[in-house]
Amino acid sequence: MTDTSAPGTLWVVATPIGNLDDFTPRARALLESTAVIAAEDTRVSSRLLTERREPVQWVSLHEHNESRAIDGLIEQLTAGTDVALISDAGTPLISDPGYRLVSAAHAAGIPVRTVPGPSAATAALSVAGLPTDRFLFAGFLPARASARRKHLRELARRHETLVFYAPARDLPAVLDDLAAVFGPSRMATLCRELTKLHETVRRDALEALRDWTRDDPDQQRGEAVLVVAGSDDPERAINIDALAMELARELPPSRAAKVLARLTGLDRQTAWQRIEAIRSED
Ligand code: SAM
Repeated sequence: MTDTSAPGTLWVVATPIGNLDDFTPRARALLESTAVIAAEDTRVSSRLLTERREPVQWVSLHEHNESRAIDGLIEQLTAGTDVALISDAGTPLISDPGYRLVSAAHAAGIPVRTVPGPSAATAALSVAGLPTDRFLFAGFLPARASARRKHLRELARRHETLVFYAPARDLPAVLDDLAAVFGPSRMATLCRELTKLHETVRRDALEALRDWTRDDPDQQRGEAVLVVAGSDDPERAINIDALAMELARELPPSRAAKVLARLTGLDRQTAWQRIEAIRSED
């Protein structure tokens, strides 16, 4: 409905992360009635609109065109048209596009309202059995192993529970890096294919989860969230990689390797290789 005296509303609407029964009545009603729907992949999202009678204007809004699409959407909102923003699955903006549109709407004085619902991050936290009073949503890790380890080293001493998104095919590699950087016995919960037929929720030490996902190809299918316990002891959290990084920064390589070997019990050659690997990443 268009009212020239007042701006429209930008509705940010959550949709299911797998199980269509999680489509809330309010989200369904909004998507059945809103004039314009901005969606990542309009073909994926059109499957949600089984009962819609009025025609809908789809606007494609994805990572690569968000800046360009915003102007047109803000123009429509300013002219009084309501817009619903959805993503392929779950809550928009959570590792999904939409932040720039929502920011532009606020800047233009357009009301922004939420229709909350599923998100893989909160669903995983709710079943992980790890502290939830404070958590850090870390989203996707870098694809390259060296960049990933570097990023993980920055998180190794955080006390909050950490939440990572990952395609399940990457789980053995990601868990291998997590075990190496956070320590093999740090607890984590693997949440895979949540709300779907082959849902997996398994809590174990990082090393055990790595071996399990590596040895069972079924665990490498679909989508996953890793909820990882925060560091419980600042002293123990200074693991070999973190120590090697500090030594590599502070000392010449041969001296750094010598001190690393002495403090950790690593043999000189392994200590040298660790220092060299860190130096090549920096
Ligand atoms: N906006 C979404 C949300 O609210 O969770 C996340 C979108 S992000 C592009 C996609 C990632 O979310 C996947 O790679 C996976 O890490 C996670 N994810 C989405 N659906 C999932 C599910 N059913 N089970 C486990 N993880 C899921």
